[in-house]
Amino acid sequence: MSYQGSCHCGKVTFSVDADIPDTAMSCNCSHCRRKGFLLTFVPEADFTLHTGAEDLTEYRFYKHVIAHLFCTTCGTEAFMSGTKPDGSAVRGINLRCVPAADLDALTIKRVDGARF
Ligand SMILES: [Zn+2]
Repeated sequence: MSYQGSCHCGKVTFSVDADIPDTAMSCNCSHCRRKGFLLTFVPEADFTLHTGAEDLTEYRFYKHVIAHLFCTTCGTEAFMSGTKPDGSAVRGINLRCVPAADLDALTIKRVDGARF
């Protein structure tokens, strides 16, 4: 199965070759708490950006290892791009930007990012 996601205005659209997960990560770091992400991570190869590459801008902070990509029109960060410690490329998906995800049914895994 695969699922689709988008920013709010619809310029940025993507799909992920995976089932919608039943767990999501909620992090309390200074960035995540402000944006309210519910995250899941997938291998780069399972992610396809369909539209909006030219509409994305990038924000990096702290160790600058994660590219936070958000739509320049609506400000929505639907996904981010990073590298795992083993060097493999991953995408963090903001499940709040996946309309088919039942947010209330997700088991929330809390991450204490504020202490990283
Ligand atoms: Zn947008």
